[in-house]
Amino acid sequence: MLVHVARRIEESESLLTDADRATGDGDHGIGMSRGFEAVRRELELPDGSGGTVAELLDTTGRTLLTSVGGASGILFATFFRGGAAAVGDRETFDAEALRLFLAEGTEAVRQRGKASPGDKTMLDALLPAAEAAANEDSPAALLAAASEAARRGVEETKGMVARTGKARPLGARSLGHPDPGALSASLIVDAMAEFVSGRDQEAVP
Ligand code: ADP
Ligand code: MG
Repeated sequence: MLVHVARRIEESESLLTDADRATGDGDHGIGMSRGFEAVRRELELPDGSGGTVAELLDTTGRTLLTSVGGASGILFATFFRGGAAAVGDRETFDAEALRLFLAEGTEAVRQRGKASPGDKTMLDALLPAAEAAANEDSPAALLAAASEAARRGVEETKGMVARTGKARPLGARSLGHPDPGALSASLIVDAMAEFVSGRDQEAVP
């Protein structure tokens, strides 16, 4: 699942760069793509996919921390590591573990970045995703609902004026553009949903 997430972010580099050009300093796509390439390489090592669910999520976070850079590097690292801690020693990434991962990863980002809903940040995708996940029972339904909620959250960021981070000085000029971090968050959740539903395999000819 994490390798699939990494590929999705790597493929989306120019989409994320364009979003950050419109609202920030333009480095988001490069940072995220570099970070998730490092994650994929780490997980694709001969023993890279050994370990518990939490260990793999934590490795993802640690790798992002040292390779992404910028505000989002710290915050996505916090998301994966905070989520990993909540998964704890659970042996499978089942519905309960997924709900905990999304809820506690999001809470860790909120505590670390201290942004509020409506500030035009990744939280505007993560919070609705975690909330939507709380109401579903199966991993596939839960991730599909979370992905849909995150996508709507990204749409809503277009109508928000940035109140934090590098987009803040732009003020009303950030209106009409999605928040790049929210877009990344929604791509991450959507790639997780895609992997669990098997949509990724259907796409292979
Ligand atoms: P930088 O802003 O350092 O250039 P990036 O461009 O990689 O870093 O990431 C920008 C994204 O980081 C924003 O789109 C926003 O989603 C997210 N972000 C910035 N500050 C915060 C914060 N305090 N809380 C949550 N997310 C934030
Ligand atoms: Mg930036």
